[in-house]
Amino acid sequence: MSGGAFVGMPAFPPFPRAAHEAVRNTTLRANLRHATHTIRDKRARAVAELDDWAELREAGKRIKDETLRHLDRYLEQLEESVVRAGGTVHWAADAAEANRIVTELVRATGETEVVKVKSMATQEIGLNEALEAEGIHAYETDLAELIVQLGKDRPSHILVPAIHRNRGEIRDIFREEMGAWGRPAPDGLTDTPAELADAARLHLREKFLRAKVGVSGANFMVAETGTLVVVESEGNGRMCLTLPETLISVVGIEKVVPTWRDLEVFLQTLPRSSTAERMNPYTSMWTGTSDAQTADGPRAFHLVLLDNGRTDTLADEVGRQALRCIRCSACLNVCPVYERAGGHAYGSVYPGPIGAILSPQLRGTGSEIDASLPYASSLCGACYEVCPVAIDIPEVLVHLRERVVQGGEVTRRGVKVTLKPARGHAAERAAMRAAGFVFARPGALRLGQRLASRTRRFHPRTLPGPGRAWSAARDLPKVPAEPFRDWWERTRGGAAQGSGRQEVSGK
Ligand code: SF4
Repeated sequence: MSGGAFVGMPAFPPFPRAAHEAVRNTTLRANLRHATHTIRDKRARAVAELDDWAELREAGKRIKDETLRHLDRYLEQLEESVVRAGGTVHWAADAAEANRIVTELVRATGETEVVKVKSMATQEIGLNEALEAEGIHAYETDLAELIVQLGKDRPSHILVPAIHRNRGEIRDIFREEMGAWGRPAPDGLTDTPAELADAARLHLREKFLRAKVGVSGANFMVAETGTLVVVESEGNGRMCLTLPETLISVVGIEKVVPTWRDLEVFLQTLPRSSTAERMNPYTSMWTGTSDAQTADGPRAFHLVLLDNGRTDTLADEVGRQALRCIRCSACLNVCPVYERAGGHAYGSVYPGPIGAILSPQLRGTGSEIDASLPYASSLCGACYEVCPVAIDIPEVLVHLRERVVQGGEVTRRGVKVTLKPARGHAAERAAMRAAGFVFARPGALRLGQRLASRTRRFHPRTLPGPGRAWSAARDLPKVPAEPFRDWWERTRGGAAQGSGRQEVSGK
């Protein structure tokens, strides 16, 4: 898929413009601040309980790296295991192919409704919109996703998609919209959590009992047995995975882990990192199909393995670490930029720090929004500190900024593509070229430093042209009356000249 929005999503303005609008919304800021601070504090306490957190983090990182290094082998092993257990595997190169496969599978059942487990991959490909266009209604069953769907809204957080809504807003959405989608909200519904949850439960229950087709993603896929794993905390996922006769799971290829021993690590780090729970409330696992006479679960199971830019991301030595992500959302909850701008400003189903490095890699940096995302960060490093698989998000952000400014070569769909440098960075490029020229010539550097010292009284307090806005909010450093090298030679009498000079120019 080329740059721009994921399928099913409108074109978005660049991050600075969207964030500028978002930060003026005081309700949004208050909702976000309250929610992110609550989750981050709880997470810090849950993580601090484990003496071996650092070892678990390192183990998670290594397992993911090893799997990604041999991804082809593990995916083939996974396919064999799923087929052996009675399932069918489909390979989708991009969003359009994945949507076509799922649509045809639903059509083949004769059904026009599906129930869905919360899934980032299906949001990424715009599956709901693609199904709707073919007359198939997809019902979200996760509470937060239900709120987003009823409110004709977009998710703004990986774990808590309706984090930007408060209880009063949710009550209003339920009262006004539930009736159009099925069972209406009870009369006199208030904004107490118990009543809201009860209204959602009653509304969803009739959908679960009627559904013949379920659609899910998966948090993990175990190659050795072909087992898929969904980690959730409401029980809706369990209903979708066990009640419908046909189950279709759309999963990114990076979600495979080799063995159950490997899974053990992530089942410890994910709950603590995401919801700050010691153990996840509902961890559903299924392997292939079930026998109608003896067990719950689907009679037909289809696994759609989604690429959609992932193998291109894998080809980038620095950027590929983003594929380690287990979508815990801890990086969102500590990010000062996310806390103020909110998730919608990122123009993607992947908001926050992980979105800022994942979306421009999956979609390319060709659009305004994707070229702006690597700049949606203060590079404070808080995201790296909390990441349970040690993704160095600041490193990837800087790497992607370089790509945006300089252009360069990347792989798209297995083909090398030359990227044009993004517009709007001409001054930065010219400044870097000039700096490169001067730093490579010690004589020119010395001359420039002396010139700068002698003319320092005439230096402007702000930069002209494109640098004006940047320097208006910053103090430019004062140029010393005498360059360091001259001072060194003068005070050391030139005694250490040779070594001093070489050392300075060597840096
Ligand atoms: S990048 Fe790390 S902290 Fe952020 S969602 Fe992914 S795993 Fe969690």
